[in-house]
Amino acid sequence: MNHPRLVVSIDPAAGFCTGVRRAIRAAETLLANRGQAFSVGEIVHNEAETGRLRALGLTTLKTGELQQLPQDAHVLFRAHGEPPSTYNTLETSNLSLTDATCPVVLRLQHKVGLASAETAEKSGTVVIFGKPGHPEVVGLQGHARGKVLVLSHADQIEEADLTLPLHVFAQTTSHAGSFKQFCEAINARFPDATSRGEVSIHQTICAQVSKREPALEKFAREHDVVIFVTGSRSSNGKYLSERCTAFNPRTHVVSGPGELDPRWFAGAASAGVSGATSTPVWLMEEVASAIEKMTSEASCT
Ligand code: SF4
Repeated sequence: MNHPRLVVSIDPAAGFCTGVRRAIRAAETLLANRGQAFSVGEIVHNEAETGRLRALGLTTLKTGELQQLPQDAHVLFRAHGEPPSTYNTLETSNLSLTDATCPVVLRLQHKVGLASAETAEKSGTVVIFGKPGHPEVVGLQGHARGKVLVLSHADQIEEADLTLPLHVFAQTTSHAGSFKQFCEAINARFPDATSRGEVSIHQTICAQVSKREPALEKFAREHDVVIFVTGSRSSNGKYLSERCTAFNPRTHVVSGPGELDPRWFAGAASAGVSGATSTPVWLMEEVASAIEKMTSEASCT
């Protein structure tokens, strides 16, 4: 196979967002000091990274399993945040906590709490645009009072049981275009309600997520071949890898270097390695090294 002078580069915009990076640093510090800790849910949706942290002593458990922990156990809350009920469980079980909830998510929980206090008094509704059952969404629902609906598509607006006043929030990792369509559908159902102050739309998508797609488009178009590295359970990885394929059809999605195929690079002068907000940089570096090795070996044969 011929791979003339293949230049391999890593997408500088790829890798963990600051919230996930902060949670992982908290876990590493905790494990260095204690040797063992328990995370409520996966700290990041990437099997390679969770495997690395597991080897350092981090055990992932479900909220329902907290009460079974011994009293000297130390618990970590990941960047997605938790509903107040999980804090209560920890308190009643006398467990110690490192709270690595992302500050952006904490602010959103606070806003949802304030808005829901107002809507509950006036029989209004809080709407969270997001994925039902996603841990961040579950946390936000927990911080709300009164009527809270979780909706994920503009098509749901017409039939939804929406009462005014209405406060609308987005899960921080939502797609900006889909949220825009969703808000347009709300404005179409309640014309002029925004100007009367009865509909409040809060732009709560994280800037690190909304900037990611334009940066990926530029990177994908600049390279002949793109290798997109992501774990199989990452919804951000699924979405971004699909967009990457749309920007560059020579995109291949892998979870690690073992899935690379030298035939993908035939005739290419450049290969770019990118990934989701849950993909560790060390894994993208391993993939880039493996590409360099396999293509230099192939061009020598
Ligand atoms: S995507 Fe944004 S809000 Fe969500 S954890 Fe990362 S930095 Fe925080």
